[in-house]
Amino acid sequence: MEVYQGHKISGQIAIGTIYLRREEQERIVPETVSDAEAEVTRYEEAVKKAASDLRALSSKAEQNVGAWNARIFEVHAMMTEDVDYREEVTRTIKSKNLCAEYAVFLTGEHFSKMFSDMEDDYFRARAQDVKDITDRLIRTLRGQTRAEDPDEPHILVVGELTPDDLIRQVRSRILGIVTERGTAYSHASILARSMGIPTLSGISPDPSWNGRKAILDGIRGTLIINPDPSTVKEYLGILSERAEREAKQKSSRTEPAVTKNGKRIPLLANIGDLSELETAKQYGAEGIGLLRTEFLFLNAAQVPSEEEQYAFYRKAVETMGDRPVVIRTIDIGADKPARCIPMPEEDNPALGNRAIRISLSNRELFTAQLRAIFRAGMHGNVSVLYPMITSEWEMKEIAEIEADVKDSLKNDGYTLAPVRRGIMIETPAAAVLSDRLSEYADFFSIGTNDLAQYVLAVDRKNYALERYYNPRHEAIMRLIAATIGNAHKKGIPVSVCGELAADTDVTEQLIALGVDELSVSPSLLTEVRQAIRESNV
Ligand code: PEP
Ligand code: MG
Repeated sequence: MEVYQGHKISGQIAIGTIYLRREEQERIVPETVSDAEAEVTRYEEAVKKAASDLRALSSKAEQNVGAWNARIFEVHAMMTEDVDYREEVTRTIKSKNLCAEYAVFLTGEHFSKMFSDMEDDYFRARAQDVKDITDRLIRTLRGQTRAEDPDEPHILVVGELTPDDLIRQVRSRILGIVTERGTAYSHASILARSMGIPTLSGISPDPSWNGRKAILDGIRGTLIINPDPSTVKEYLGILSERAEREAKQKSSRTEPAVTKNGKRIPLLANIGDLSELETAKQYGAEGIGLLRTEFLFLNAAQVPSEEEQYAFYRKAVETMGDRPVVIRTIDIGADKPARCIPMPEEDNPALGNRAIRISLSNRELFTAQLRAIFRAGMHGNVSVLYPMITSEWEMKEIAEIEADVKDSLKNDGYTLAPVRRGIMIETPAAAVLSDRLSEYADFFSIGTNDLAQYVLAVDRKNYALERYYNPRHEAIMRLIAATIGNAHKKGIPVSVCGELAADTDVTEQLIALGVDELSVSPSLLTEVRQAIRESNV
């Protein structure tokens, strides 16, 4: 039995078999073959297998992450079978007597370059898809599997996890995640927590772990490889106690989130996918305080249309009935690149073209999203929330665009319902200017994840600087206090939706500062509700 200490990302326990995902592709060498015809046949068989694997993956993913997110696999299957791509591979094998792996590699390089040189955003975004299918074909030719990971439930061990990666995973198969790099505040970690997947980081994997039994303890932050029988028994006991406790906690979901002195703090949920709605309701969310719409875009082969977005938002709104749903406009960029919205490489993406900046520079994209949100507003209690605001001029521009969108919807015959407007306070500028920004908003929502990143000048994803990244830092607390003071002067409420909202050590402090509402990952609702009920404010 070996025990490794890591960092806690998502505090649950998993027991299962390790699957170590290899990151580097073995070098592809230009070997020659004596029988080119046979090599072409081998390639065509690989095409068939890769396409059928992708289609199987597509239907499985559909059950777990929804039809929209699963579509990428169907698109990849079609690209794998593309006639031009296949002709070029066949020609390369025959003309140079090259092995299929190398011919595929050359063709992939050629096609992805061709796409990335194109003017049109849609076609430029295809370059990554070409790389993905090329990697898959090479792995298939080599008899290797990777991207889809094993079918059996497993503990995934990987260098670094991306949000995109998590969305692609078939959730029921991942018992837990261990990453070498990654902080608690990266979007991938937030997503893992939100999905309730036990997760640890800061553990360097050893290739010999693959296939071994392990216990991932997200509460103590340990990974136990080859646990001895008494340890397994101990953990099975902990798991069943936890299950009992959770069943009891679930029954406490209807208890009101009220402090000991009778202050009511509405407790809402942060979600990124419709599949989280049920967990949110199960744990008694009083609404959706943050719907991260970018997750709808991350894996999409093309920008979701107004209709597709409308269907998605409407489903969230209708599921929540008369409870509020706060829909945040896309926060794409930084560690959430979307393949359907290609952007030039940036040296400092967290300080780059991100969130509202992308919306304001792409009117068509922004308008379609706002139309979908306002239309969804006709079905329930909806607010729109704008991320990464830094200046008043942005809000003026947004207000004008909103007015145009509403006019055009009315012209199209829609009878709109009121939709409240919120501003994310997640940049130092927004917190400092919150007195002025309150003129443009019906409410504020404080995003402590980014606020900490930008106030403390620490990349929220940089594992090496973790001790500098402290959302409880006094500078953050003062900015929260100032924001609340300014908002309350204008009579508008303030919610906290960053991860600090779920930090039960500061629940009382946040309420004492005057926070009106908290929004947290669905799986953390119970703990936070308990902390509110124990607060002496
Ligand atoms: C935040 O920054 O605190 C926030 C809630 O937004 P995100 O984590 O999606 O950047
Ligand atoms: Mg943010």
